[in-house]
Amino acid sequence: MERVLLLNASCEPLQLVTARRAITLLIGERAEVVAARNDALAFRSPSTETRVPSIVRLRNYVKVPFRSTQPPVSRRAVLLRDQYRCGYCDGHADTIDHVMPRSRGGRHEWTNVIAACKRHNLQKGDRLLHEIGWELLFEPTAPSGLLWRWRHLGEIDPLWEPYLGETQFAA
Ligand SMILES: [Zn+2]
Repeated sequence: MERVLLLNASCEPLQLVTARRAITLLIGERAEVVAARNDALAFRSPSTETRVPSIVRLRNYVKVPFRSTQPPVSRRAVLLRDQYRCGYCDGHADTIDHVMPRSRGGRHEWTNVIAACKRHNLQKGDRLLHEIGWELLFEPTAPSGLLWRWRHLGEIDPLWEPYLGETQFAA
């Protein structure tokens, strides 16, 4: 399914919509095309043929409630943030570890989870870093930005990037 970036009249990104939804907004003159790829698919109706745009912008500004751009903490998201590198040895990671163990009050939040290889995850167990003399190779931080939020949807259209803002990764 083709996805289209929907911008507010102010050019802030609102959400990703289906191609069908974007075309409906265009036909209803509620949105206008901001950008389209040259190789975009055409959307045919009996009387018209419209290229599916990459970005459309609403003609009228809509008020949206504040939304956190911080994505939920999931194993996959943490591994992506840390680029599958263990926070304890820099080796290949395929698990996530709570730096402050949950059994000891550690929270399931971005700043307390880190990618870890199976060996270090197992070795660390429910202990605190200072108890075993370990140090983190990097500080876990919360990623932000819509680009990050939408990564799981698959390929990000490069035309969207200027509108999606900075994506922060752990260093
Ligand atoms: Zn490791």
